[in-house]
Amino acid sequence: KLLLEVKDLSAVIAESKQPILKGVNLTVCEGEIHAIMGKNGSGKSTFAKVLVGHPDYEVTGGSVVFKGENLLEMDPEERSVAGLFMSFQSPVEIPGVSNIDFLNMAYNARRRKLGLPELGPIEFYGYISPKLDIVNMKIEFLNRNVNEGFSGGERKRNEILQLAVLGADFAILDEIDSGLDVDALRDVAKAVNGLLTPKKSVLMITHYLRLLEFIKPTYIHVMEDGSIIRTGDISIAKVLEKEGYKAIAAA
Ligand code: ADP
Ligand code: MG
Ligand code: MG
Repeated sequence: KLLLEVKDLSAVIAESKQPILKGVNLTVCEGEIHAIMGKNGSGKSTFAKVLVGHPDYEVTGGSVVFKGENLLEMDPEERSVAGLFMSFQSPVEIPGVSNIDFLNMAYNARRRKLGLPELGPIEFYGYISPKLDIVNMKIEFLNRNVNEGFSGGERKRNEILQLAVLGADFAILDEIDSGLDVDALRDVAKAVNGLLTPKKSVLMITHYLRLLEFIKPTYIHVMEDGSIIRTGDISIAKVLEKEGYKAIAAA
């Protein structure tokens, strides 16, 4: 079943009007895992941010349909409530706010939007506790201030915990593997796999074959200069790893 359909999507930087996305096409069905690879500066993160409605960018053409609805007409909050999730790009430290309070607030904001009663601290604790196992986090982690002194691996696992708490039908993970050692990567990948169900879909942006060996993609896309120039299976990532992007030049 169709989940997301992006057609000829173009976008510019809002401030400078510089074109970044130049006709992106992508179709994602329920249960599929898509990976986007591509050189630095090819527009991968911009694509992800345009999908979640980041205000730095302006859509200048094309369409995005998510669950049958026009995604581009929704504000970022509505997109999130509709089931779209993106890992926070550069998670900020929030002094004086514990991780569990932060997650509780985010989850309650979601519940209010859905017309559900908010969860108090004790109920929320009951909700989040079993999810800690998915990301292999100790309970003490929840009492630390948001991102304060988190290691790279802890930050990434915290992003996956956010995903587990908020729930999403379509999760965009932008370089979730960056800066992780192999063990931390395996943990994060295991957490993502633990969240996957036959109805959920993931879009992963990555530079490395390593991640794709842990989270097996249905399709791999290569982005170049603001559009997807190739789509294929894992063999694309293997060619890239061996020969670099020159081996996959735009036709
Ligand atoms: P990737 O994630 O593939 O490395 P990005 O989408 O981050 O690429 O960036 C694509 C291009 O757009 C880069 O040249 C980047 O510098 C530029 N760009 C993206 N966002 C902004 C912004 N908010 N302001 C200025 N330039 C930007
Ligand atoms: Mg980059
Ligand atoms: Mg990027």
